[in-house]
Order: sequence, then structure tokens, then C-alpha cells
Amino acid sequence: MSAETRSARAHAASGAVQAGTGGIEHRWLVVALVLVLALAWGVLPDFTITLLNYIGLHALVALGLVMLTGVGGMTSFGQAAFVGLGAYATAWVCTAPEVAAALDGLPPAVLPWAGLLLGLALTLVVALALGAVTLRLGGHYLPLATIAWGLSLYFLFGNLGFLGGHTGLTGIPPLTLAGVSLADPRALGVLIWTLLLLAVWALHNLLDSREGRAIRALKSGRLMAESMGVDTARQRTKVFVLAALLAALSGWLYAHLQRFINPTPFNLNIGIEYLFMAVVGGSGHLWGALLGATLIALLKEQLQDILPKLLGMSGNFEIIVFGLLMMLVLQRYAEGLWPTLAGWARRLGARPTPPRLPAPQPLPVRPLPSPGTVLIEARGVTKRFGGLLANSQVSLDVRAGEVHALIGPNGAGKSTFFNMISGVDDPTEGEVRLMGEPMTGQPSRAFARRGLGRTFQHVRLLGQRSVLDNVALGAHLRGRRGWLASMLRLDRHEEAALLAEAMRQIERCGLAEHAHAPAASLALGQQRIVEIARALAGQPAVLLLDEPAAGLRHLEKQALAALLDQLRREGLGILIVEHDMEFVMNLADRITVLDFGTVIAHGSPAEVQRDPRVLAAYLGDDGSGSVA
Ligand code: ADP
Ligand code: MG
Repeated sequence: MSAETRSARAHAASGAVQAGTGGIEHRWLVVALVLVLALAWGVLPDFTITLLNYIGLHALVALGLVMLTGVGGMTSFGQAAFVGLGAYATAWVCTAPEVAAALDGLPPAVLPWAGLLLGLALTLVVALALGAVTLRLGGHYLPLATIAWGLSLYFLFGNLGFLGGHTGLTGIPPLTLAGVSLADPRALGVLIWTLLLLAVWALHNLLDSREGRAIRALKSGRLMAESMGVDTARQRTKVFVLAALLAALSGWLYAHLQRFINPTPFNLNIGIEYLFMAVVGGSGHLWGALLGATLIALLKEQLQDILPKLLGMSGNFEIIVFGLLMMLVLQRYAEGLWPTLAGWARRLGARPTPPRLPAPQPLPVRPLPSPGTVLIEARGVTKRFGGLLANSQVSLDVRAGEVHALIGPNGAGKSTFFNMISGVDDPTEGEVRLMGEPMTGQPSRAFARRGLGRTFQHVRLLGQRSVLDNVALGAHLRGRRGWLASMLRLDRHEEAALLAEAMRQIERCGLAEHAHAPAASLALGQQRIVEIARALAGQPAVLLLDEPAAGLRHLEKQALAALLDQLRREGLGILIVEHDMEFVMNLADRITVLDFGTVIAHGSPAEVQRDPRVLAAYLGDDGSGSVA
């Protein structure tokens, strides 16, 4: 059993425990935490307030990294540079004589806010530019690129004369908010923590939405998400910019807390520390950012005190111990410490806040083409992988209201053909039309938008997410609400509708009892059915199924056949790749047979079963025996 499956099963087990109504909801725990912090704020010693302020500032950056790295799967070592952009922008605006001259007449209290605007705008531009270049890089190249620009920006800060070089800038004024001075760290801390908690709230909302499902697919399911209509490149850029803006915000607050800045806190070491915070806290969990920032602040603090006494000399030894501890923690808690903490809380009676959704709004409905309409038309599709001819001059069409089966031995080129007609890959030659529209060069999300739904031979589900969540991603294109609406919870009617639609398809596919279980906890055959439900949630006109019956038991196969038959009667066009000949022969209206990438037969099940070339392909050259 894979680690993912194992932990998914554990989640499923804990889900059963959570289903009870006893215990405290998470939301009340958060409220209690905020209240305690608010009440204690006035009486905590200065020293603690300073520590909490730094924790808040670091957590803002780590929060962006949780989104970027933990959720979105893009590792960045360079976030400290964005913190620097935010800090230097406001420091320059507030201290440069040119700016003072240009903004002559404006009250000085406005300057820090102008600095904030400049910092965010600058960060936006820089992040968009860096994102355009680096986010396309795969594998280890992206993290390496973040190191490169992290270093570049750091040296830029130190070498620009008007930013004070390595000495930096001093005399940065305190913030004033609605006439109140935030010169006292205790006062500024209120703003820091308010912004941090607001950011947690907004990001929590974002992740719990249509857009959140798309974001969660970025890490391991980009190809799948594209087939559900998600523009994954755009989502990646947005997450990247979001993380950068949070870092810049932290930098702005830092500059007005510290009141002087130099390049040191924006160097690569600190960038690595931010990443540690996100990863140690729990890279996929928003609260993990707070936990990580707290732990690392406390640890550094302690180590700086203890180590000199222990070793009898001073130096940067804490960095070494720090690194070793980090390795130990990650070895023992690969998902960070937050899941462990959450597990303790669960044992003490905490339970997730149940979703409260309003009445669903109606979703757009796509009228199905009339029976017999040609939905997919492939003409002379050829695909070469180097010297290998995976598809050779394959022509085939799928009409509304029919089940068309594509069969052939392993390696015949069936999955390759699926990729050709769903935009996952482009044919070397030939043309594919969808609903009469030529689709050459279009991405798979354009196919989804025009009414194509598909499943994958190798199941592509987000294993840790619930079946419901996975299926709802299939309905992505039927929703409109974007990031901002999701963050502000303005998407609830639509979200209710998307989840209701997902639930309807899950019930229709006979998986209602598993709706809230993590997808990876289901048997592989059932996971294939989840993929069908996900495709149906997009309300497709044409459905491509790659070996949907593999791994199903006899009764489950019958249920699947009944479902596909019903879909056919509703007017869908279905193209199915399947190895179970009994299943195919009983269900299909027409069959196309591929062998070595070439169509060797085409016709009704009866015709195909008699075809000597088919018999030869399946049974060797002697041709004895039958396909069924
Ligand atoms: P089927 O689905 O009918 O079993 P496939 O379409 O998966 O067959 O594969 C057809 C042939 O193309 C096989 O020989 C396979 O090894 C090859 N092939 C498939 N995808 C690729 C790829 N991305 N690069 C190189 N060869 C590939
Ligand atoms: Mg295949």
C-alpha cells in the first residue's frame, strides 16, 4: 500500500469518528484562540509582543509558501526577496527627498500607504515577469530558478545607491492608521495580527471553493485538471503572485516596525528559513504556517541563548543545530507538524466545522445535440513518437446516442488516440473536429469547454481529497466565481450548486456511501467510476472512457453497463476503450479495432467478431477461436 493510500485510509477512519456531533467545532477553537490573543495583548511583556510581531510577519510569508509549495507544488527559496521589495519600496517612498518633493503638500502620514501601494505594484510586476519565465520550468529547475532570482534581488538591494547600499535606509516613519500612531510595536502588532488572521480566513475560503479545487490539483493533477477545463498555467501564476504579495505585505510591515532596513534579512538564508517554516509547520495546511513560524522563532531564540553557554563560545552555531533539527523533524513528520497537532486536538474532541451552504442556484445546462449528430470526427490521425508509429491514419467518428468501442491488443495505440482527440497531445498529421469545429493545436481545456468529458486509463484522482471534491472538479466549467469572490465567500450559492451536482452524479454512479471518503481509500475499480462521475459532472455531450471496467467485479460491471446504456439513451456519444470483450460486445453499437496503430476492422459487434484480421490480431496468426 502506498503512503498516500495508507494515510488516506487513516483519514477515512478519523472521518468516521468526526461524524459524531459531540466536541468543539474548529471554528470555535479559532475564535477562542483569537480572543485569548486579543485579551492578553495589552498585558503581555514587551519582549513577548516583539516575538509575536516577528512570528506574525514570518507567518504571513510562510502562509504564501503554504499556498505555493504545500498546496500548489511550486517550491520557492526566493520569498525573502519579495519581502525585501515590499520593505525597500516603502522605505524609499518614506525617506527619499525626491518623493517628498514630488508629493509636496500631502500629509506625511500618507507616505507609508503610498509605499505599500508601490511595494505591491512592484511585486506584482516582478512576480508576473519572474513567473512568466520560471513557472514553465519543470522538475528541479523551478526551485533552482527561485534561488537565482532570490540571490539577484538581494544583491540588487545591496548595490543600488539610492537604497543605501549595504548600510540600508534609516529614518523610516511609523505607520498611522486613521489618525492613530502605530509607533509602539504593541499597536503595530494589532495590525500585523489582524492582517495575518484576515489572510488565513481569505485563503481558507479560497481553498474551500471551486477555484480552491483547481489550485489543489496543481501539485499532482495538472494534466487531469486541464481536461476538466482548468487553465493550470494561469492558476499557477496567480498562486505565485499571491505568495509574492503576501511576502511584500510582510516586508512593508517589517520596515515600519523596525524603522530601518538593510539587505541582510532579505537574503537567501532567510528565504530558506521561510521555506522551513512552511514545510515544518505542515506544507499543505494554512495553520501550519503559523505553527512553523512560531516554532522556528522560539527555537532560534532558545538556541541563541543556550548554545553559547553550552559550547563556551559564541558564533552562528544555532544555524547548524537548527538544520539538524529540521532534518530530524522532516524525517519523522514528512507532512509537517500540523497534522500531528490536529490529531491531538481531534482526540481531545475537536471536529471540523460542518459546511453550511445556502440553497443552490441553478447551473447552466448545455442542450445535447440531436441523436446521430457527429460529435467527434477524426480524419487520418497519425502520431509518431520518434521512430514509433503509435497511430497511423486513424479515422473514426462518434455520434450522439451511440456507444462506439475502440479495441485492440495492448500497445495498439488506443490511449494515444484518446490523447489525440482530447487535446492532451497533438497529432503529427491528420485532423480532429469536435462538434464540427477543427481543434488542431487547442489545449484539452478547450475540448472540455466544447463538451468533451473523459476518464484516464491510469486513474488521475486527488487521492487525499474526498470523492465529492474530486467529482466537483469535473463541474469546474459550470461555475463562474473567481478568486476574489471565493475569498470573500460570495460564491456560496454557486458552490452549493456545484456540490449538489457532484453529489447527483456520485449517486447516479452508485458511490453515494463513499462520497465523503478520500478517493484513494476506494478500490481501484471504484476509483474508475469516480472518474466517470467527475466527467459527467461537466455535463459532457461526448464521453471518452479508457478501460472503465478494469478492476470491477461482475455485478459492478453490469451496473456500469446499465449506466452507459442510460447515458446513450439520454443522447450522449460514448467512445470506450475496453478489454472485456463480453462487456464490449453486449454494449457497443459499433466497434473499431486497432492493431499496431492502424484500423484493421470497423463495424457492428457481430461483423467485427467474424473478421479474420481481428481474430488474427487477438489470437495469433492461426485465426482459430473467437474474439468473444
Ligand atoms: P494502448 O492504449 O492501445 O495499450 P498506447 O496508446 O498506450 O497503447 O501505446 C501505443 C504505443 O505508443 C506503445 O508502443 C507505447 O509504448 C507508445 N507510446 C505511448 N505513449 C508514448 C509516449 N509518450 N512516448 C513514446 N512512446 C509512447
Ligand atoms: Mg491504453
